[in-house]
Amino acid sequence: MKRVALLGATGSIGRQAQEIVAAHPGLELVAASSGSTPIGGLAPHTQVGGDLTELLERSHPDVVLNAVVGFAGLPATLWTLERGFELALANKESLVAAGQLALSARERGGGPILPVDSEHSAAFQCLEGHERETVTKLVLTASGGPFRGRTRAELEQATVEEALAHPTWRMGPKITVDSATLANKGLELIEAHFLFGLDYDRVDVVVHPTSTVHALVWFRDGAALAHLGFPDMRVPISYALTHPERAATPVEPLDLAAATLEFEAPDLDTFPLLGLAREAGERGGTYPCAYNAANEVAVAAFLEGRLPFLAIADVVERALSTVDGAPAADLDELVLADAEARRAAEAVLEPVA
Ligand code: NAD
Ligand code: MG
Repeated sequence: MKRVALLGATGSIGRQAQEIVAAHPGLELVAASSGSTPIGGLAPHTQVGGDLTELLERSHPDVVLNAVVGFAGLPATLWTLERGFELALANKESLVAAGQLALSARERGGGPILPVDSEHSAAFQCLEGHERETVTKLVLTASGGPFRGRTRAELEQATVEEALAHPTWRMGPKITVDSATLANKGLELIEAHFLFGLDYDRVDVVVHPTSTVHALVWFRDGAALAHLGFPDMRVPISYALTHPERAATPVEPLDLAAATLEFEAPDLDTFPLLGLAREAGERGGTYPCAYNAANEVAVAAFLEGRLPFLAIADVVERALSTVDGAPAADLDELVLADAEARRAAEAVLEPVA
């Protein structure tokens, strides 16, 4: 029996994970958390808000599914890696913000990270059993979000409601806005760099509107392995929780005769947050942390109606230009870098809005 701690149990990933755990006789939900919704009775150990490492300390999980949204998921990621328990990671923000610290913790703990993000679950499976030097390129696919094909002029008046209408995935509000700006793919680029140890020039992004191919890997012999499937997060959640068993799920196979496999280059001018993520990743240090922090501030302001859609990228760009980006030696320094970037973003919010 595998003891599962589910953090962020009330969210989009959390609810689908509950379904997967309930359907699998080898998985037992021992702990569950939410940010604010009451969840008494969902698991033997529950917690609403507060320090999630306390919940983990008292519930003794074998696997932690971190489905919290944002930087708030970081202590749980580091706690799990440090102790060598399995980390099923949906909370990409923690790996983006703390990449180097997380990798060091994983090295000390010796446990695996099983990605839940669909592209990274796909990439993990395509890369399994292949030496890194045989890989020429990892390609992450992006749906392009609700605003694919639009011009900047057309997006000046983009509303929250329009940004939340994602064409292929039903997700929480923060990641849905990130998908509309392509910041989500930016975060995923940095996530892939840390997860798979690939330099940024070996990770590409391509727009693929139907989200049928989740990722593909090119090898030096000219062959590519791709991962296809119906866009349904229960597949990567189940894979992460039951690896290496690959348990059955209720997800139907694709109708290949009806599938379209179209790809196009991302529009980096209309969606600058993808390019800004690549720059932040390449600069290293705490630039990825600052990118994430400024983006969290800007997305929250957009969702509250305090910031126009196109200004999300302006806020992140201007915040990135003011922080010092020096590497963080420990969690305390990282928390300071995160706070500095949040202040920088808040400071530019007013004039931009
Ligand atoms: P969501 O907003 O639906 O749910 C977030 C969960 O985190 C909720 O249970 C909420 O109560 C909890 N939470 C929020 N703030 C918290 C805080 N400060 N402290 C503790 N708990 C808090 O989000 P989601 O769409 O399920 O996404 C969760 C994570 O998974 C994100 O990092 C997202 O990028 C990633 N992800 C989601 C999807 C998807 O399909 N939804 C796909 C890939 C990756
Ligand atoms: Mg994804």
